[in-house]
Amino acid sequence: MKQGQATLVVLSGDVEADGAFVSIDGYTGEMVFEEGVGWVGFVPITRLANPRLYHVVVDVFNEGSYSRTFVSELLVESVPGVIDEVVLDPDNAALLAPELVAIDNETRFEQYTQPTGPRMWSGPWRLPVVGEPSGDFGVMRSYNGGPVRDWHHGYDISADAGTVIVAPARGRVVFATDLPVHGSGVILDHGAGVYSGYWHMSEIQAEVGQLVNPGDPLGLVGSTGVSTGPHLHWEVIVQGTDVDPIQWTETVFSS
Ligand SMILES: [Zn+2]
Repeated sequence: MKQGQATLVVLSGDVEADGAFVSIDGYTGEMVFEEGVGWVGFVPITRLANPRLYHVVVDVFNEGSYSRTFVSELLVESVPGVIDEVVLDPDNAALLAPELVAIDNETRFEQYTQPTGPRMWSGPWRLPVVGEPSGDFGVMRSYNGGPVRDWHHGYDISADAGTVIVAPARGRVVFATDLPVHGSGVILDHGAGVYSGYWHMSEIQAEVGQLVNPGDPLGLVGSTGVSTGPHLHWEVIVQGTDVDPIQWTETVFSS
């Protein structure tokens, strides 16, 4: 697998446990029990992870004792660091002030790190909007000729303003409001520690608490926040780490 992707770790069978955690090289994530499957945990590999071989282990806790199981090895391959030179007008550039970026990050990641329930979807996800791909996950970014200061934490799809953005997979709406940098947006909780975010909308069409199925409307494509034209900035977050959304449209995370 590659930097910025996620993998599903399964401890199959009817393992008696109060809880289970999956670990890779300093990362630890809680697993959830799925009837007939076992303990499952999605593991994110960060965009900036060292490309090398990792060991996956699962710790199972039961009645005050725990046991560690070596599950597998995982080879992480590097993704080339392409640099995207973004040109922003002064109004947009002013919105990239550190204190505004901090508001966006704190608000989003407060949601993205909440504990979740069981996995709510099955099968590959659909694309949330029909349009042109306009920004890959993980490309390095410089603004107005400055140094590379960040990488792209989502996947961009350009579309006409007003195009409907739909849920790509089953989930629950946990956030629907405006942020200075990401603009108007919606966050879905898909269970199993997986969240997705939809940003720069011109109009939000979903309410917090609502259960959505694939194809249900979330809002309309717009250019709110820091944006150079109408597009969707789509994020997928696993256990608090941004991963490449496109993987989720191509992969069946089978148990
Ligand atoms: Zn984007």
